[in-house]
Amino acid sequence: MGPDGPELVPVAAALQRARFLVGARRVAQFPPDQGWEVAFAGRSNAGKSSALNATLGLRSLARTSKTPGRTREVNFFGLDEDRRVVDLPGYGYARASDAERRRWEQTVELYLEGRRCLRGVVLVMDLRHPFTDFDQQFLAWCHHLQLAVHILLTKADKLSKSRAKSTLLAARQHPAAGGGRVSLQLFSAPKRYGVEALQLRLAGWLDL
Ligand code: GDP
Repeated sequence: MGPDGPELVPVAAALQRARFLVGARRVAQFPPDQGWEVAFAGRSNAGKSSALNATLGLRSLARTSKTPGRTREVNFFGLDEDRRVVDLPGYGYARASDAERRRWEQTVELYLEGRRCLRGVVLVMDLRHPFTDFDQQFLAWCHHLQLAVHILLTKADKLSKSRAKSTLLAARQHPAAGGGRVSLQLFSAPKRYGVEALQLRLAGWLDL
């Protein structure tokens, strides 16, 4: 760490060392609960895989989570022995049945409630449709568990700069984003806008 906090070049290099470890369906398959971990969550199609790939520097890293049959898995990526980035299953296909929703809730609940090495959660929201019911429920859950949350308002390239900025300002005022442990930023995977800010946030949480 430099005098003003983590320096970007070594942080980006450390994040790019991420390698797929395991797609876990049960707690018993999770890696040992030690070191530091950050998790990415979001509604399906919000842009979570794109954000993960842009941040960890590998195009196809998060593709595993899209393979049919693997969408209920918690995917762990290791940077080193003690630092991991976790891809939580995407929530809420429009056609998901109640049983599927319940399975999703159970998986994520087991992870969020039991994981002691979890330092923070990145919640990915499409900035054109922020704070869906799911997002609000998820934020309430994190608030209850006293987890730090960093909200990515992604697909920022879909709006003009001024509209993206006013969306960010409005999102900061949203009641669901209240409380001291929530931060927000704009993000665009194709433009790589906001990648560095996100990498620095991850570095802080992962003690890089
Ligand atoms: P996930 O289901 O949340 O993992 O979403 P994906 O990362 O697969 O993205 C869903 C769709 O949105 C894909 O067609 C992506 O190419 C697109 N997408 C994701 N992020 C961005 C972004 O920042 N800007 C734009 N324009 N499209 C994006």
